[in-house]
Amino acid sequence: MTTDQTASNEWLDQLEELDAQGLRRRLRRVDSAQGAYVTVDGRRMCCFASNNYLGLANHPRVVAAVRDAVERWGWGAAASRLITGHMGPHEQLEARLAAFKGTPAALVCATGYQANLAAVRGLAGVGDMVMIDKLDHASIVDAARGCGAVLRVFPHRDYAKLERILRRAGDFQRRIIVTDSLFSMDGDFADLPRLVELKRRYDALLCIDEAHATGVFGEHGRGAAEAMGVEHEIDLVVGTLSKALGGIGGFVAGRAEIIDWLINTAGPFIYTTALPPAACAAAMAALDIVEHEPGRRQHLLELAAYLRHELAEVRGLDIAGSTLDTQRGPAARSREAAVACQGSTSQIVPLIVGDAREAVRLADTLADEGLLALPIRPPTVPRGTARLRISLCCEHTKADVDRLLAAVDRHWPRAQ
Ligand SMILES: *Cc1c(COP(=O)(O)O)cnc(C)c1O
Repeated sequence: MTTDQTASNEWLDQLEELDAQGLRRRLRRVDSAQGAYVTVDGRRMCCFASNNYLGLANHPRVVAAVRDAVERWGWGAAASRLITGHMGPHEQLEARLAAFKGTPAALVCATGYQANLAAVRGLAGVGDMVMIDKLDHASIVDAARGCGAVLRVFPHRDYAKLERILRRAGDFQRRIIVTDSLFSMDGDFADLPRLVELKRRYDALLCIDEAHATGVFGEHGRGAAEAMGVEHEIDLVVGTLSKALGGIGGFVAGRAEIIDWLINTAGPFIYTTALPPAACAAAMAALDIVEHEPGRRQHLLELAAYLRHELAEVRGLDIAGSTLDTQRGPAARSREAAVACQGSTSQIVPLIVGDAREAVRLADTLADEGLLALPIRPPTVPRGTARLRISLCCEHTKADVDRLLAAVDRHWPRAQ
């Protein structure tokens, strides 16, 4: 046997092991533009699995903005931002984002992932302490691990525990709390007013990741911090242009001197090519729609409230922390915070299945009926909490949601 064969068998063995545990992942090819309905493997399917919450990934005005921008600016940015890749649309978009978020400045990065790396590494280094929620996005975990600061992870939304950590963190140069505002796999919210209270009491910085809330929450769609009335208390906001805004790119918004510091020091911003200018134009067109068409987010959240009510209250199913009525203890305050978030319900609804293989089976059965709701398994979520992550889009109708509910009734025995 050659060394090559031994090596390739090792990989195959590992993949088979993943298969046996229901943890193997496969790419699935979409052969249509994104929307409430997509074509997968030649079949038209109702998609409950994207982050295209406002239906902007294929909105005619966004597409037109891209076309116009490509005509004017060409395609590539040709260099990193600090070299020659900083073009008109980048500057315009940053001004738009700062105005949108109500901050003095904003910085566009290649992705939301890189925006988190830039933000956390910009704020925190050796001699500091970073505190993150157990369910924070993987990009925050990577950022916090790589920044040189001491890292403490507190249980999900356990702010009493966070306070105990803060109480003993007085000797660190800086204390930095980093949290998702809307958690991507549980669909629940951080209690931002409580975090603001803690950051003030213990002289900490608060950085929030509004990846899933930007465009969806708050009167103007600025995010969960707007909905909870604490926008001006947040030190740094991270967001993405790739979810509700339907495109690609990430951003950090905050005080001008912090943004300037990131421009000077943040590797994930400095050492990567600037976004194509047309991607910036797309984001600006998407922001126009967010600002002028609040009906999109209202319809989305009404559908979400309906789905959640049907799953949790009517059927008694486990939808994790996103069932606000069952929250207790440290989570109780989040209930108030989330109520401030327009009807207390987000567009992300996890249907907890438990076993990874069972989650895969349920998803496969739903797929046979033309319904795309994907299983989320460890290590993305904790062991024993595999789930279908159902995410809604404002282009869904109530009839689409009813179809999904009827299929859950047929195929998920616990639904009766
Ligand atoms: C998706 C996501 C990101 C990363 O954003 P991209 O633009 O897709 O790189 C960051 N944070 C959270 C909470 C996310 O869900």
